Amino acid sequence: MNLSSGLADGGYGPYRCQPSGAGRRRQGGDATFPQKPKGLDPAMNLVTSGDRERRVFVGDLSRKEFRQRLEAGTLEAAIVPTAATEQHNEHLEMIHDSLHATWMAEQAALRLYPRAVVTSPVCVGVSEHWMAHRGTLTVRPEIFCEYVFDICHSMTRAGVRNVLILNGHGGNVKPLMRRLDEYRDRLGAEVNLRFQSYWDVYDPALVSATMDHQRLPGHADEFETSTMLVLAPERVHAGDIEDEASKVASREKGEKLLEPAVAGVARVVERMIAGEEVDQPPVTFRGGGRTHMITNEPV
Ligand SMILES: [Zn+2]
Repeated sequence: MNLSSGLADGGYGPYRCQPSGAGRRRQGGDATFPQKPKGLDPAMNLVTSGDRERRVFVGDLSRKEFRQRLEAGTLEAAIVPTAATEQHNEHLEMIHDSLHATWMAEQAALRLYPRAVVTSPVCVGVSEHWMAHRGTLTVRPEIFCEYVFDICHSMTRAGVRNVLILNGHGGNVKPLMRRLDEYRDRLGAEVNLRFQSYWDVYDPALVSATMDHQRLPGHADEFETSTMLVLAPERVHAGDIEDEASKVASREKGEKLLEPAVAGVARVVERMIAGEEVDQPPVTFRGGGRTHMITNEPV
């Protein structure tokens, strides 16, 4: 299966198979960050690590491999990336959030290997608020939520007990949070379903110390531009930057912010597997503090 090989730039790639030659063993162990094998087109290799020894995407496993991991009791959690394909100002590509959520999910699953898998990501989210910017894709909230639920349900029907919906797009938060309790009821008490945006795991002190504008995630500005400068600098169209916050974005900031996000997400999944209640509120960071994304109260 190769969903993107026919596209000139390797496709948008949030869920793609390896280009030929990617089967080599990954070099450098967990100390290599971000994990990309060398010698491959970086655009072709943006999301999946190229690690064929430790495959974490459900779609990269045969049904036999998936079943064997389940039956051996080693597969304990699934991560469902949810994001968007929407305008990201003039200078970032519209797939930004999907790339980030999928990459975070993969990196977290690799750290927990072989205990966690990553489903195919949901790359179109609730983006009605950006439809004036042509090219944005959106789905109705109820359709989005039901689609995400069915993916989670597919994993729990297979016998995976812990499911983390790992979100990378602010517009998805309210619709999914509203349905979460209902979805837990539908899946049953033996299933541990959580919803989390990857930035929820940040320590406010880190955000304050790293970001000039202290706004995170923001939209297509300092934070998102900085992290993309690490993951795929060729996807930052620097000459088209218009807003002041994006002008102070840097690779250094991105490096400081990516690792704690992956570590935090992996920790959430680890705690879920351990049977702990992990309910971090959905947040945004502003002016040195954290605000609840739905109630707007400080948390
Ligand atoms: Zn974004």
